[in-house]
Amino acid sequence: MKQLTILSGKGGTGKTTLTASFSILAKNAVVADCDVDAPDLHMLLHPEVMEMQQFKGSKIAVIDENKCARCGLCREKCAFAAVTSDLKVDAIACEGCGVCAVACPANAITLVERVSGSAYISKTKYGFMSHAMLYPGESNSGKLVTLVRQNAKILAEKEDINLILIDGSPGIGCPVIASITGVDAGLVVTEPTLSGIHDLERALQLLNHFRVTPFVCINMYDINVVNTESIVSFCRKNCIEVVGKIPFSPKVTEAMVNGKTIMEYSPKSAVAKEIEVIWKKVVKLMFDN
Ligand code: SF4
Ligand code: SF4
Repeated sequence: MKQLTILSGKGGTGKTTLTASFSILAKNAVVADCDVDAPDLHMLLHPEVMEMQQFKGSKIAVIDENKCARCGLCREKCAFAAVTSDLKVDAIACEGCGVCAVACPANAITLVERVSGSAYISKTKYGFMSHAMLYPGESNSGKLVTLVRQNAKILAEKEDINLILIDGSPGIGCPVIASITGVDAGLVVTEPTLSGIHDLERALQLLNHFRVTPFVCINMYDINVVNTESIVSFCRKNCIEVVGKIPFSPKVTEAMVNGKTIMEYSPKSAVAKEIEVIWKKVVKLMFDN
């Protein structure tokens, strides 16, 4: 089984458009939306949920009023101002660090697990999908990404599917690391802007650190052909495969507004044709090596 993560240094570079299009072209792949902080693949693939599971990724302090001596030490020690003046724990402010439980002289505080999100196994028109949603204000998205990937892997094994397509979260933080570890290749989607080039370099460093084969795709390459050329020559110098250059087209946004992928909305467009070429190249590079 092969795993490909589609990633970008920041949001809005076309990563989700590409992942959704690949899931159509693949015909039989499990797609995993690992952008758990702001998932949007479901808006294009319209999954039908088959299974839902609670994600318990964090803890919250609970004060036993019968044991509490009302000394106020927990309120004094809490660095997150999560204990109110009437000695109640504010669920949003509590980080579950446990300092109050250690400080409490009456052993009145325990830490309990709390539900921080949901994970789903779903079916789309094009195959299976593993996805999730982290509740507002919750952290530990890296752990939820790992759960989404585990679910995708179990599904692929059970259904005898040989490819997992992962829509990674933007940036280079913990959830991105969780979405690239152990994958066969990482496709970085970038734009030919100065910030895009900077983000591309950071994403490539990350892939290099985790020994993941990098591919690069330049989206809206024609908005700045000089910067596009700089990216191409940088990749050539560093022996990184540029798998394609997608032209700018307002049809991509139109497709999204209509809740469709570009492959469905405008299959004959230059963008759709280029995505198909990119897909064939990626498959060849991943499965022929
Ligand atoms: S530290 Fe313990 S005993 Fe003191 S107010 Fe907090 S919960 Fe009550
Ligand atoms: S667990 Fe940490 S954040 Fe939560 S109330 Fe206790 S000290 Fe504050």
